[in-house]
Amino acid sequence: MKFICPICNKELPRELRVIIPHTERHIIDTIKEEHPEWVGKNGVCKKCYDYYIKELNSER
Ligand SMILES: [Zn+2]
Repeated sequence: MKFICPICNKELPRELRVIIPHTERHIIDTIKEEHPEWVGKNGVCKKCYDYYIKELNSER
C-alpha cells in the first residue's frame, strides 16, 4: 500500500508516514498555516516531518 503525502505530494511506502502527535501542536499549527487544507490525521511523510521540525528549531 502506498501513501501520498499531502504536503509534498510524493508517493511513499506506508511505513514512511508520520502521524504527528497532539503533543507537537506547534508543528501541526505550522503545517496548517502553509497547508490549510491538510487534515492532521492523514499525517505527513517522514521527510516533511523532519523539515518542519528543523524549521521550528531554526526559528528559536
Ligand atoms: Zn512529504
